[in-house]
Amino acid sequence: MRPLSARLNLGTLILALALLSALIALANTLHASYRVQREQLIGNTLEANRVYASKLAESTQNFVLSAQQQIAYSATVLGQRRHDRADLEAEAARLQLQTNSFNSVLIVDAGGTVLATSPQSLALQGVLLKSVGNRDALARRVPFISDPYESATGRLLVAISHPIFTAQGEYQGYISGTIYLRQRSILQSLLGKHYYRDGSYLYVVDRHGRILYHIEQDRIGQFALENPAVQAVTQGHSGAQQVLNSHGVRMLAGYAPVPSVGWGVVAQRPTAATLASLSKLMSSVIWNAIPLGILSLLITWWCARRISLPLWQLARNVQNRDTGIAIRHVTGIRAWYYEVAQLKTALLYSFNLLQDRIGKLNRASMTDPLTGLQNRRGLQQGLEDWQARGQPFGIIALDIDRFKAINDRFGHAIGDAVILRIAQLMRDGSRDTDLLCRNGGEEFLILLPGSDAAAAARVAERLRLQVAAEVFEKVGAVTVSLGVAHYPTYHDDPQQALRLADKALYMAKEQGRNRTVTYPQPERPGIGPDGAR
Ligand code: GH3
Ligand code: MG
Ligand code: MG
Repeated sequence: MRPLSARLNLGTLILALALLSALIALANTLHASYRVQREQLIGNTLEANRVYASKLAESTQNFVLSAQQQIAYSATVLGQRRHDRADLEAEAARLQLQTNSFNSVLIVDAGGTVLATSPQSLALQGVLLKSVGNRDALARRVPFISDPYESATGRLLVAISHPIFTAQGEYQGYISGTIYLRQRSILQSLLGKHYYRDGSYLYVVDRHGRILYHIEQDRIGQFALENPAVQAVTQGHSGAQQVLNSHGVRMLAGYAPVPSVGWGVVAQRPTAATLASLSKLMSSVIWNAIPLGILSLLITWWCARRISLPLWQLARNVQNRDTGIAIRHVTGIRAWYYEVAQLKTALLYSFNLLQDRIGKLNRASMTDPLTGLQNRRGLQQGLEDWQARGQPFGIIALDIDRFKAINDRFGHAIGDAVILRIAQLMRDGSRDTDLLCRNGGEEFLILLPGSDAAAAARVAERLRLQVAAEVFEKVGAVTVSLGVAHYPTYHDDPQQALRLADKALYMAKEQGRNRTVTYPQPERPGIGPDGAR
């Protein structure tokens, strides 16, 4: 597996960084707005439930007060004079049927025996009541609203009762209107059923926290004091809070008391139902953010590429072994920001320095240090270039005559001076394109591109005469011998052609020195010593 540094590049890093910061920003925004919205939604729902509970508590209160008034009136009427049984029946029926406040009406004498009922179908006339409600009403002899209790007919109910006194203040019994808790009653009409969508509901408790009204019938009559909203409302407080209902579901509850009876109304809505819209909102925020997010990623990707491209190009060219090509490529790179411009400058500087050094070393390696002419390596290089171009050239081989003797007589340094001077004469008499080479010791080669053997021989002869005419310091006269050949007319191998020039040189030596000899015959048949010229 490739190392991490080979798999990561600047473009990817920039893109990853941009992606990361965008994600963090998005998450942060979502989180913040989620929290704010959530708190607002919960706050609004709590407040709405509190207001709703208050309104219903007020309605309940109004109902209870008016129901009490109705019963009080009947009690007054019944107390004014003695009534026969039919009158009692009529009054009970009037009270029950005139309004829908009561499920039933009972008129009971001071001993607890039922005198009249409405509806008559209760069949309680003459029955001696033993219920808690009856006992309390007889004992207390005041207007009051009972706690829920099981009636003589086996129904769970609350009773609103009023004592009946004669004008003289003699206790006659009581009249009571009942509200059935488990049957259709005024409470249901009052509290309605419209509130029960999305899991919301409301219920009414008495002052002991016992449920008087609930959408779930079987909860009626149970105590709900574990619910903090119920605890608060039974203590007469109005407000709102988050609670867990009896099924363990989180609820946003608003509550308000019904002061005259000590009841409480609680309206609650599941927290999840309230927050459902929030999840939708959040997902719509995310979906809406996607197109712009993709666009900005594309832009970032493009920018990252533009930023990393020149760096990548620079890096790739550093690996180029040919500094000349590298310099050309690096020069062409568009360095459009500061760091890349600096890097490019630095790179070009090092490349140029390197090339300069390499050039110097190259030249040094191909140059003879004493004369500054090409050495054998330089000659070789030049020959290769010409051969590649198919360049023909005349060849002059030169050797100083009796140089050993000069060395012996005047010393090595004077010998060197002679070599130097002859090199100078060679240089003076040659064209820029000529290749001048010190072949080792006091032997030289002159290659003349484009010159035939005859032209080369003329150059050689001119040089010989110049040397012969020169007065060398301390030494005086010095002569040279020269051999001439030509490539490719003498030989189609440049090395062999050079050897022929050398042979001609030794012929010159043999013939007495201080002369120029052109190699007599080309070794290839059909071509004369002077080639075609
Ligand atoms: P010939 O006419 O046959 O060429 O006689 P010569 O004495 O020149 O013989 P040869 O060419 O063989 O002599 C070469 C001498 O050149 C031998 C050596 O002492 C001398 N020599 C070679 N290289 C150098 C050099 O770099 N400097 C000096 N001063 N002398 C050198
Ligand atoms: Mg020699
Ligand atoms: Mg010599």
